[in-house]
Amino acid sequence: MDLKKLAATLIPDKNLKSCEEYEEIYPPRNLPEGAEVTRLAPSPTGFIHLGNLYSALADERTAHTTGGVFYLRIEDTDEKRKVEGAVESVIRSLKYFGIKFDEGAEIDSPLNVYAPYYQRKRADIYRAFAKRLIEQGLAYPCFCTAEELDETRRVQTESKQTTGYYGAYAKCRNLSEKEIYDKLKAGTPFVIRLKSQGNIENKSTFRDAIKGDITVTENDQDIVIIKSDGIPTYHFAHAIDDHFMRTTLVIRGEEWLASLPIHIELFKVLGFRRPRYAHTSSLMKMDGDTKRKLSKRKDPELSLDYYRKAGYYPLAVVKYLMTVLNSGFEEWTLKNPDADWRDFKFKIEKMGKSGALFDLDKLNDVSKTEISKLSAKECYEFLNGWVQEFGTDADKAHFENGKYIEDILNLIMGTGGKKRRKDIERAEQGVRLISYFFDDTFSPEYAYRFDKDTVNAVLDGFAAVYDANDENPVWFDKLKRVAANAGFAAEMQEYKANPLNFKGSVSDAAEILRVAITGSPNSPDLCTIMKILGKDRSTARLLKAKIK
Ligand code: GLU
Repeated sequence: MDLKKLAATLIPDKNLKSCEEYEEIYPPRNLPEGAEVTRLAPSPTGFIHLGNLYSALADERTAHTTGGVFYLRIEDTDEKRKVEGAVESVIRSLKYFGIKFDEGAEIDSPLNVYAPYYQRKRADIYRAFAKRLIEQGLAYPCFCTAEELDETRRVQTESKQTTGYYGAYAKCRNLSEKEIYDKLKAGTPFVIRLKSQGNIENKSTFRDAIKGDITVTENDQDIVIIKSDGIPTYHFAHAIDDHFMRTTLVIRGEEWLASLPIHIELFKVLGFRRPRYAHTSSLMKMDGDTKRKLSKRKDPELSLDYYRKAGYYPLAVVKYLMTVLNSGFEEWTLKNPDADWRDFKFKIEKMGKSGALFDLDKLNDVSKTEISKLSAKECYEFLNGWVQEFGTDADKAHFENGKYIEDILNLIMGTGGKKRRKDIERAEQGVRLISYFFDDTFSPEYAYRFDKDTVNAVLDGFAAVYDANDENPVWFDKLKRVAANAGFAAEMQEYKANPLNFKGSVSDAAEILRVAITGSPNSPDLCTIMKILGKDRSTARLLKAKIK
């Protein structure tokens, strides 16, 4: 068969460059020994998930701890799944978590010499290589219809054989020249398939940067490399792109392990040196007693937007993911509490070989700790960022008074010293937590443990003597007096010695005030809360909270 003629018929494009020219256009990168070039290669479906951030962190750390490059490539070969604005959304989402690309799609960088970074714009390159494979007898046209392929699959499944297009099932592999041209003349649609040279009897050891040595069976599937619309498949496109974008380490989800034999063969037939591969284990969660993969349908926390909307502190998400990524990270942070997390020596080889457990409760703890390290001003800025994007109009109005919020935050978080309160877990929860400081959002349901006369005696009594200038000891003395008048023990010892003589202790009386002022029996220091509210509002709240 005249393969040159066949290639020119199947891929008649006039302006394709030669494969050698591409080697010159995209030369090897000039980087120091050991520098890793990594990439994030999402499909622009608009759904950015935790797995993307998890991989991006591994990519970014690997590149930037070795003096390499981390770039963004958009795998948009599946037009149907494409969503407007998805690329910007990837960039924005990752930027929120402090992850920046050095080059790639929509990144303004002098490094962008490996462009274009959208696969759809690279069609010529793929077609040039597909053409060469046809010329070499390593690829061929396939005219099988979807129905024929379904039928083959049915037969294979029924007889418990491996499904796919291979061996005797690869019907178009041995078409004669005449059969091919007849079909072409008739306008029959076709795809281009790899003519696999592999044999499943052959096994070899493959070194994965995360999984270690794994046994792989040679590929024998004649996979599609160019679809009937002329667009390449992931398999073919990624091999060409990772070669010409000079990727040194492909970090991707373990769901791709099953396709590894195909990729190994593709690199071989294309004559490219293979990059190293690192297959990351899937993110799992505990569901009752069982561990399962995070699912788009069941777990809202899989979406990265979830963390922005709920107002997680981005550094906390990153740090928590780092503990999931590298088991040594947590220990390192304990030893180096004040160090920048980027100083940790990240090693891809130390990533877990199987199921990485993602635990939202643990993330919440990390988030509380990270927020507790902020100054009131920093915390205000963080909360305000969330308020401006996701808050209600009332939130926005409240946050106009930065000084007032900072006073509240100083109280909520505790000032100075190492021991700071960890009441704020996320921006959304933090903003709700302080809503009782604003009359328009203060709508308590007063729940008292004492009768009307007792409650009202405490509230009236304290409203009569309260002065916002009182410091804590004076404030507390006044409370003791009011409590005693209402039948409570002013001193704890007194109460403990004869509990039956009193309605309760001074702390029970304080609870009545607390419920009146904050709506809750638990709060940070009440004297300070009342100071922040001021005399008028505090007194008004005490009187309003009386039982009618
Ligand atoms: N586009 C593929 C995906 O989104 C990328 C896999 C890879 O990183 O090679 O799953």
